[in-house]
Amino acid sequence: MKPFKHFNADSVDEALALLTEYDGKARVTAGGTDLLGVLKSEILADYPEAVINLKTISGLDSIQADAAGIHIGALSRLADIADSPVIKKNCPALTLSIASVGSPELRNMGTIGGNLCQDTRCWYYRYPDKMGGRVSCYRKGKGPCHAIRGDNRYHAVLGGRKCYAVCPSDPAIALAALEAEVKTVRPAGERTIPLADFYGTLGPVLEPDELLTEIRIPAPAANAVQRFSKFRLRESVDFAVVSVATVLDVAEGVCRDARIVLGAVASMPYRAVAAEDVVRGGPLDESRIVQAAEAALRDAKPMSGNAYKVEIAKTLIRRMLRL
Ligand SMILES: Cc1cc2nc3c(=O)[nH]c(=O)nc-3n(C[C@H](O)[C@H](O)[C@H](O)COP(=O)(O)OP(=O)(O)OC[C@H]3O[C@@H](n4cnc5c(N)ncnc54)[C@H](O)[C@@H]3O)c2cc1C
Repeated sequence: MKPFKHFNADSVDEALALLTEYDGKARVTAGGTDLLGVLKSEILADYPEAVINLKTISGLDSIQADAAGIHIGALSRLADIADSPVIKKNCPALTLSIASVGSPELRNMGTIGGNLCQDTRCWYYRYPDKMGGRVSCYRKGKGPCHAIRGDNRYHAVLGGRKCYAVCPSDPAIALAALEAEVKTVRPAGERTIPLADFYGTLGPVLEPDELLTEIRIPAPAANAVQRFSKFRLRESVDFAVVSVATVLDVAEGVCRDARIVLGAVASMPYRAVAAEDVVRGGPLDESRIVQAAEAALRDAKPMSGNAYKVEIAKTLIRRMLRL
């Protein structure tokens, strides 16, 4: 690892002042479980001059519910969110998604802010500099996406454009189904971004001087059925091959509303609007369920090695919709 200056920020203002001072040459860290790996492997040509520790800022790790919904501080540890009675009661899909993240060690160190902002796991992008030299690619600003002609078994099957890396965050998928928003702050001011708009083709849309401070989830309908399921190759410590989060509002056998979000199939949480349209307004019978799964993947454009993801996604959707 190359040397860098390290600062323990006491406040959001201090962290923002440091980001301004270093003008794009500083990175923030929370649990460090992702950033330290990125720095150790030197996967990026631009190395930060300074790393600003956010975990020394107090007050950004609370988990609360009020009339407006649920508020989760960006520095809340994943383990604390998964254990929170407020989250278990109101957002079981989020609890399930966090329980599927990595290992207990990672959930004890990792924060929700860091999880949502973590860098992609594309193996071309992550190729370590020390093993023959880092790989340039579209995401790094130079060259093609190597997944297009290379080994793309874990890459996007939906909406790929120039970079086919997928969003690696499991909680992001549940939060998208829960219609969460994230609150951010930068020297120029604050903004609130729907989670659905938080990711672009190249990852989170945060500016270099912008911090994520809070996640807000609107109070879910009392009778909403929330689910999350993740297909992975190993049952322990593995990223999703495909995941699905669903929030269904069903009354007297009729699906009044549905949100269906797929993970690890696109660069962002993929909201399967076509599937939602199939199930909304009618009974969740087998015929609708099958139609919904087909509709969700209708626009899929798998590459040479990842068509299997389409079938897994359809299977997970069918399972999630069977109440
Ligand atoms: C072996 C392994 C297995 C894993 N498995 C999974 C998995 O199955 N599912 C899954 O979802 N994740 C998985 N992860 C990722 C893990 O969940 C993340 O590393 C962790 O959540 C990141 O949180 P952190 O607080 O440690 O972030 P850090 O490493 O501190 O930061 C990560 C990134 O976010 C930025 N950042 C952090 N906080 C903020 C903030 N408040 N505002 C703006 N930017 C910020 C940092 O600059 C950095 O770019 C795995 C990681 C490993 C190493």
